Amino acid sequence: MRICEYTPAGLVGRTFECSCRMTHRSTIKHIDVSDGAIYMLPSVVAETGAKTVFVAADENTYKAAGELAVKLLSDNGIKSVVCLLKAEEGFERPEPTEAALGNLVMTYDKSCEAIVGVGGGVVNDLCKLMSNLGHIPYIYVPTCPSMDGYTSDSASVIYNGVKSSVKCKCPDYLLCDTDIISKAPKKLLLSGIGDMCAKYISICEWRISNLITGEPYCEEIAEMMRTYAKAAAGNAEAAVRGDKKAVEAIINGLCLVGMAMTYARSSRPASGVEHYYSHLWDMRCLEEHRQCELHGIQVGVGTVLSLEKYEKLKKIKPDKNKALEHINSFDYAKWERGVREYFGHSAEQIIKTEQREGKYDKDKHAGRLEIILDNWDKILQIIDEELIPAEKLSDLFKKIGHPITPAEIGESDESAALAFSHTSDIRDKYILSRLLFDIGETV
Ligand SMILES: [Zn+2]
Ligand SMILES: [Zn+2]
Repeated sequence: MRICEYTPAGLVGRTFECSCRMTHRSTIKHIDVSDGAIYMLPSVVAETGAKTVFVAADENTYKAAGELAVKLLSDNGIKSVVCLLKAEEGFERPEPTEAALGNLVMTYDKSCEAIVGVGGGVVNDLCKLMSNLGHIPYIYVPTCPSMDGYTSDSASVIYNGVKSSVKCKCPDYLLCDTDIISKAPKKLLLSGIGDMCAKYISICEWRISNLITGEPYCEEIAEMMRTYAKAAAGNAEAAVRGDKKAVEAIINGLCLVGMAMTYARSSRPASGVEHYYSHLWDMRCLEEHRQCELHGIQVGVGTVLSLEKYEKLKKIKPDKNKALEHINSFDYAKWERGVREYFGHSAEQIIKTEQREGKYDKDKHAGRLEIILDNWDKILQIIDEELIPAEKLSDLFKKIGHPITPAEIGESDESAALAFSHTSDIRDKYILSRLLFDIGETV
């Protein structure tokens, strides 16, 4: 059976000796995606042997499921120490910052023997880090379908002002109660759909990077992502109308993305250039002290913008002389100034990262350029095979009420253009903006 044919629960405990030569395995012990899955909480906690648990939530998610979780535990003789994450002044929601993590750590009671995270991505990311640091069993009860990090073994946090992915461990247990999740505000579901639609681009860029940089690629994992991205897009309209089966199909995808990243040992299956729009907007919002849009919705808008850019790229025929001229005239000092201007207090970290990676090294560029020129038809073929037309995604988003343009999420066209120009700065990942740099083009 292929990996893409398993349900999330079906993947638990399995090891795949894959044709990509990697061994794919996730350490997650239990996944339950069902109506009423939260009622399994006492027995799952009992499995860990904990008599007292640390329950982390925010004010909304505590009302949505935290109260019930604490009651179920108490009815079964398990004590809870509750910590509610609060939004910083001027923000609607808590953000995954050092301060928020510090709040959890300082509230943590030593008598707790397990962590129960009840909430969305921020609660989950912070709990994953806590669980990782203290080797504490972690049970995650998601309350919304807003993002796809349920089962991933990394946490998306803001560290020194830079949106970073920190390696940790995945939850040990995942209780996805479809009844609770389907009652979440519609906007959170739209966010989950936006995050899933990103996979068209992430898989496309993974294959392009594999071709140009030799980055390891797994077709099995890619197929798993294609399957669930299609399922999310195909079920989006029904899910937004409240169809539980359709919501469940989207939740299954959200559960699997984290496992795919664990299998690939990188975030490649889940994110590409479209995600960097989101990360950069998050960072700018924090710098300017304004509330950012939900992650998945930013990603959805970033996906439409990226699909449009790929459509423009397809019309280009790379020219070797133009590309060499571009790299030879590259002004590192000017780049540094641009980074300092855009990133503000997190610029130093970005510059240090680049010094380690050497993205603008001329010899490395020459090697990549040769491969690009020799394989341009193949690159175009990958784009054709993996991407859907931008118009098709925009039409779907319009039908379900998902924002399409930067303006709809409080960002200007200039902010989107500026974000795109910095997408290659925040991580060492070969994405559209790096390919454009290599051929000396802009779209
Ligand atoms: Zn593989
Ligand atoms: Zn995402």
